[in-house]
Amino acid sequence: MIKYGQQNIDESDIDAVVSVLQSEFLTQGRAVETFEEDIVRYCGCTHAVSTNSATSALHIACLSLDVGPEDIVWTSPISFVASANCALYCGAKVDFVDIEKETGNISTEALSEKLESIAKQGGKLPKVLIAVHFGGQSCDMEALAKLASQYEFKIIEDASHAIGGDFKGEKIGSCKYSDMTIFSFHPVKVLTTGEGGMVCTNQRDLHRTLIQLRSHGVTRDPEFLTNDNLPPWYYEQQSLGFNYRMTDIQAALGSSQLKRLDTFLKSRDEVRGKYEAELSHEDLISIKIQPYNRSANHLYVILVDPKHRLDIFNQLRGKGIGVNVHYIPIYKQPFYRDLGFSGDYCPDAEAFYNSAITLPIHPSLTQTDQKFVIDSVNELVT
Ligand SMILES: *Cc1c(COP(=O)(O)O)cnc(C)c1O
Repeated sequence: MIKYGQQNIDESDIDAVVSVLQSEFLTQGRAVETFEEDIVRYCGCTHAVSTNSATSALHIACLSLDVGPEDIVWTSPISFVASANCALYCGAKVDFVDIEKETGNISTEALSEKLESIAKQGGKLPKVLIAVHFGGQSCDMEALAKLASQYEFKIIEDASHAIGGDFKGEKIGSCKYSDMTIFSFHPVKVLTTGEGGMVCTNQRDLHRTLIQLRSHGVTRDPEFLTNDNLPPWYYEQQSLGFNYRMTDIQAALGSSQLKRLDTFLKSRDEVRGKYEAELSHEDLISIKIQPYNRSANHLYVILVDPKHRLDIFNQLRGKGIGVNVHYIPIYKQPFYRDLGFSGDYCPDAEAFYNSAITLPIHPSLTQTDQKFVIDSVNELVT
């Protein structure tokens, strides 16, 4: 089976992991700090806090913005469930804003209309918007930031798909238009640590809160302790945190992978270019990359006639092509239906879901694999 996404591990990654295994620390040593510094440098942000997954990164990102039971968080329905679950972990409510079909990203128009109508009715505006960069392409962050300042909400970028991408010449993760950006390092994503995540921010107070929440709410930093004249063993738990720490084993893999990120991105770009040039049928639409974006190309999604989607999907799988569908709109999940969402809550997300097929895209895809995918799709989409 040609997988739709796959990690790329080489000898240098293996050496990096082995050297941690042979060192004094498997966790909470130097490797985590080094990886965080590498991400800061790569993304151009001020602080980076590694975690054991993007899911935990989203959770502590919401908590650090004081998301709680009185609040509502908005996100896109065309995402993995973690983008919405994080708000529920904090006891908050979730609502969804429809997408734009050309990119699969949240629609700034739909967002603006929803904000305006709720503000007019005196309803509850979101405390936080989780902006998902679908498939590796940034949302229109400038437009989102404008709405955020007008309606006074915060923005967390869920850039689980998007490490290495650019928006208007700025690296995703720079947080120029947001409060925080999170990444996922699950093996199917662009860069992997096995399991792992990261929160980037330029705000010192958020950084401090994130560090504490990641590790039980405990601090040893003398600057922040509430007592003076302390014995050497002293530490304080100041909030209810978690064990969301990344290990040094994972971080060493991350730093090693980051050195090859630009070559990963280049080969993903080349696959996209080939698909765009050679997937020929006029009824076959692919996600458009906006001129101001550079996508990290985590996913290559085509939109086919919904009447034939299941058949095309099955035939491609039958040929050994590991196609997938991203995503079932989150509100359609039984858990979210039970929270009161109707099965067709966002019409454009529905249309997108009913047409979408994800084709394989990753650095280990050979020329032969690519040609096979192209020929197979061209044969089936008639
Ligand atoms: C993969 C993914 C996550 C969760 O990432 P983990 O590291 O597996 O927790 C969250 N959001 C989106 C959009 C994702 O694709």
